[in-house]
This record gives sequence, C-alpha cells and structure tokens, in this order.
Amino acid sequence: LTSSPKSSGLHVIHIAAEMAPVAKVGGLGDVVTGLSKALQKKGHLVEIVLPKYDCMQYDRICDLRALDFVIESYFDGRLFRNKVWVGTVEGLPVYFIEPHHPAKFFWRGQFYGENDDFKRFSFFSRAALELLLQSGKKPDIIHCHDWQTAFVAPLYWDIYAPKGLDSARICFTCHNFEYQGTAPASDLASCGLDVNQLNRPDRMQDNSAHNRINPVKGGIVFSNIVTTVSPTYAQEVRTAEEGQGLHGTLNSHSKKFIGILNGIDADAWNPATDTFLKVQYSANDLQGKAENKEALRRHLGLSSADVRQPLVGCITRLVPQKGVHLIRHAIYRTLELGGQFVLLGSSPVPHIQREFEGIANHFQSHDHIRLILKYDESLSHSIYAASDMFLIPSIFEPCGLTQMIGMRYGAIPIVRKTGGLNDSVFDVDDDTIPLQFRNGFTFLTPDERAVNSALERAFNHYRNNRESWQQLVQKDMNMDFSWESSATHYEELYEKSVARARAASRA
Ligand code: ADP
Repeated sequence: LTSSPKSSGLHVIHIAAEMAPVAKVGGLGDVVTGLSKALQKKGHLVEIVLPKYDCMQYDRICDLRALDFVIESYFDGRLFRNKVWVGTVEGLPVYFIEPHHPAKFFWRGQFYGENDDFKRFSFFSRAALELLLQSGKKPDIIHCHDWQTAFVAPLYWDIYAPKGLDSARICFTCHNFEYQGTAPASDLASCGLDVNQLNRPDRMQDNSAHNRINPVKGGIVFSNIVTTVSPTYAQEVRTAEEGQGLHGTLNSHSKKFIGILNGIDADAWNPATDTFLKVQYSANDLQGKAENKEALRRHLGLSSADVRQPLVGCITRLVPQKGVHLIRHAIYRTLELGGQFVLLGSSPVPHIQREFEGIANHFQSHDHIRLILKYDESLSHSIYAASDMFLIPSIFEPCGLTQMIGMRYGAIPIVRKTGGLNDSVFDVDDDTIPLQFRNGFTFLTPDERAVNSALERAFNHYRNNRESWQQLVQKDMNMDFSWESSATHYEELYEKSVARARAASRA
C-alpha cells in the first residue's frame, strides 16, 4: 500500500476522527487531509488511521480492501477483534478500523453526538495504536487530533512504548478547546489506562471537576508537541477568559505549545478547476464568477434583476461559537441595505436549528434571502463562487477556513477579529497594516452595531468604488493560503522533536 519514505523523509501517522472528504464534520477533516497532502509532497511518508464509519463517503475511497489479518485490542477487561481496511483517499494511504464490538461503535449513521462517544473514541485510540504495534510500524511522529484521539498520548507512553512501539514523538493538535470530552474518571479505565495514576491535577484530572478526567488535558500533558490552529488563538486560550478551563495547563506547558495557522487544500478549493462550479474562473477572468452568481441565483430562485446587487454568503455550523445571533441580524440588515444573503448551515443544537428553520420558512420564496439548512459540499462550492462578500462574525474562531476559501473564490471576508480570523483577514481601511495584506472588513465588538458598520463599509466600497473592489477581489484570489508554509512549520516542529529525542537517546 505504501511507498517507502525517501531517506530524508519522516514517517508521520495521523490518528484522527475526521478526514475530508470521506469523513468530514468541520475544519478538522480539512486539516488532516490538507496537512497530510502537503507533507507527502515534501517527501514524507504520511499515513492516516480512521474509524470505519458506516456513514463515510465510500465513493471517495479508492481501492478499499480488507486486510487479511485481524487486530485484537483491549477494552473493558477483554480483547475485541478489529477488521482493518486500507484504501487511498486523495492520494493518501488510509487505514480504517472496524471494531467487532457488540456496541457497533462506528455503525451509528453519524460521526459524533452519540451518548457513548467517550467509549467509541477511547476504544478507537487504543485500537489504532494496536494496529501500529502489530503491523510493526516505526513512525517518527504520531499526530493525534482533538479530544477524540487525545487518548493516544497517554496510551502511547503508558502502554505502547513499553510494548515496543517506541520510535515516535507525539504531536497533539487541538482544533477547538471548547470540546474537551470530559467524563467520570472511572471511564478512563475502559481503554486500559490507570485511573489512579492519571486522575491527578498535573495529569488528566479536569481543572474544574476533580472527579472527571479530561482527554484534551491528557493530550497536552503527554505529547511532545502541542499545537493549535492559529497564533492568535494560541494566545487567547492561555487567558482565563478564553482558555475554557485549560489556560493553567497550557501555561505550564507553554514551551511545547504553539499556534500554526491552517492552510486550505489549494487543489480541492480552486475556482479554476472546480468541477462543482457552473463555470471555472480565475483572478484574470472574473466573468466566470459573475456567471456562477447568476447560476446560483437561478438555482435558489433568487432575483437576478440586478447584476450589481451584492450577494453575501455564509457557510457554517450554526453553533453559538459562530455568532449565530449576529448571523441572524446580518440577514435582516443585508436586506435593508439592498443586498442578497445566502446561508448554508446546519445545527447540532435543536433550538438553534428550529430558530433558523423559522427564518428559512419565512424567506422561503423571497427574492433576496435564502437559507439552506443542511450539509451540502457541492452547494458550498457554488456559494463561495457566487458570493461577493462572505460573513464570519464568530465569537471565537480557532482558525476558520471559510474566510480563506472565500478569498480564493473572490468573496471578500467580513469577519470579527478573533483567533485565526485575526491572523488572516486585515481591514482594507486599517492604515497600520501594510497595503498588500489588507483583504477584507473586520470588526471587534461582538454586537449588532459593529456588524452593521462592517457590512455598510463593505456595501459602500462595493457600490461606490467598482474598480477598487475588483482589484480587491483579484488580490484576495491571488493570496497564498495553501498548506505549503503551514506544513513547513509542522515539518520543522516534527524534525526538531525527533532530533531532540535522538540526541537524548545517544546521551
Ligand atoms: P469549523 O471547523 O468550526 O466547523 P471551519 O471554518 O474551520 O469551521 O471549517 C468549516 C468547513 O466546513 C469549511 O470547509 C466549510 O466549507 C464547511 N462547511 C460548514 N458547514 C457546511 C455546510 N452546511 N455544508 C457544506 N460545507 C460546510
């Protein structure tokens, strides 16, 4: 399945709960694929281990086949068999673990949101390491992501390194500190970890509930490298206000903690080759963008009377983090300003979903507003291509990908200055920022007035300064948000960590 790494290359194995496009809920899925592809291009051997979910996009996996060996992994006092599948996703070798456990952990019709998520993913973390051990792999780096696979870090040092899977350094990336996966301390025993040893303030004990353990804290404490997804967010989470209870832990481990801005997959998100689009286009040929706008309007039944009527797009999970009340406000304000608004989003929070269903019904056959409340990859591409502006009023945003994708498709971002938005969007009117970096409209206060002001500035610019708007669109489309430079950061971190370990073992 896998080629040998070039002599200079590292062997990196990601253990993750998501990977775009086969199993994607949000940005985590994009990062696993984008970072892996970029590292592979640099000559490293990158492999990925995923659960074998029933609800994956199987048509995006090439050459999927079951291996002829079975991995037995420990859980709840006994061994369970796992069938292992291999396939290729976006040119990357992927192992899929299918547990033969009576609870049918990954046969639930959804990726997350099950009552036993803690069990599902602590089981998976252990089975993934068991696969690496039993198949004799000797990775340089095992990279785990978010609470679902943070168990890998303590499992590696406490159980697998002593068993001989000891070639690796562990890298843990937290994509969002809001989700920590805490559980009663005793639940940790299921995957074979020692609760007495780990339920301690300097290890995995939750910082606010002492009878609970916190997998993300475990990832921070037991990994060699800890990253999050933007420099600004890395600063924010070290404060009591935004650290979601983990600021103390992050500060005590600050030497190994760094924020690296995500990139986007420049092949998957390329308006010049995007087959989801009605017409492909580029910065030098913006006629195609206008045609996509027209096509989306027709597709959604919006008015096409005014070619120059600005279209504001928004593609998001509808959760409080994303500033849902500000999104709702912006829909009405856009209408008052004479624009069109298209929202693509869905919510795991029932009352938010209901509220937006109400708004969607209200505007069901409106000329200028459309809400589409589902997850739809293909439609998302059409909306990026059709939008003149793209709204992201997040309350907090670890990195955010939609502002970068929006820019690549010539949709000018209107964002709140927080987390990764603050590291990638710079206000066109901010004289303190060098001109070449200014690419959008930003606001700081998370309230309606601030949203209004940013929207109005964008509308004025769009209407009164046609030529300069077009230059802005072209500038944003030509900005480089590819994984290239972020992957170089990860590569350096990996290499330094591996070199330190080798030096220590020689000493
Ligand atoms: P998060 O990871 O918090 O959800 P990001 O901005 O990092 O937010 O990543 C969101 C990704 O998910 C983007 O690729 C975006 O296009 C996609 N996305 C979000 N909601 C939808 C939806 N309803 N349909 C299609 N794609 C969506």
